[in-house]
Amino acid sequence: MAMLEFDDVDVFYGKVQALRGLSLQVEEGEIVALLGNNGAGKTTTLSTASALMNPSSGSVQFNGTDISKGKPWDVVGAGLIHVPEGRRIFSTLSVHENLLLGGYLVKNRALVASRLKHVYELLPLLEQRRSQQGGTLSGGEQQMLAIGRALIAGPKMLMLDEPSMGLAPLIVAQVMQVISDIRDQGTTVLLVEQNARAALKVTDRAYVIEEGATTLEGRAKDMIADPRIIDAYLGA
Ligand code: ATP
Repeated sequence: MAMLEFDDVDVFYGKVQALRGLSLQVEEGEIVALLGNNGAGKTTTLSTASALMNPSSGSVQFNGTDISKGKPWDVVGAGLIHVPEGRRIFSTLSVHENLLLGGYLVKNRALVASRLKHVYELLPLLEQRRSQQGGTLSGGEQQMLAIGRALIAGPKMLMLDEPSMGLAPLIVAQVMQVISDIRDQGTTVLLVEQNARAALKVTDRAYVIEEGATTLEGRAKDMIADPRIIDAYLGA
């Protein structure tokens, strides 16, 4: 059984249909990327997995539980954590305070402390900046903080929306490396990326989403060489 499974999912914003019979699976331990142009439905797919949007038909399962009529906090409690596009760092709070907010649903304080220690080991730059205000960090550092904050919640699966947005190529490579490290430490990852080239370097599999449905699926190493992907998403 897949960790996350969409089966023939339709989602509407009022009269606008954003997902049209979308199906996908993410297996435990994978990094899977969702590729596609603006407006294809990638962000809506993550919002639906987070139960911020509920489908009008079809089913969404996380770890064997149907979440298609669920509430966002139930999904977070089940270990599916969403890092939204734009990072949403609290700019006047310190790095440390931003991280602690990731643990607001975790009752066990010792667990939060041990996850904090782990995040500071994985992302030492956050420890160096722990007293600094979030708003004073660079874009790349803010992305690392958003990822670190999500890790404090103890995700079984992490969903990242456009983590490379607005970052220089060297920083994008660092973010992708961190995503790969997180997976190696046992967290499954679903990644939305416009930067298909950077994403396919670290992912196991990818789906192309077009007009609200998945139209291509494959192993990343095959997709990198697929002329349809090269023409549409990898450019010259
Ligand atoms: P982007 O990279 O631009 O975020 P995307 O692939 O993530 O693109 P979505 O944001 O999921 O695409 O949008 C899918 C479709 O749903 C688009 O046609 C979009 O215009 C529409 N849509 C998204 N959000 C809303 C909303 N809040 N209200 C109405 N329509 C929306």
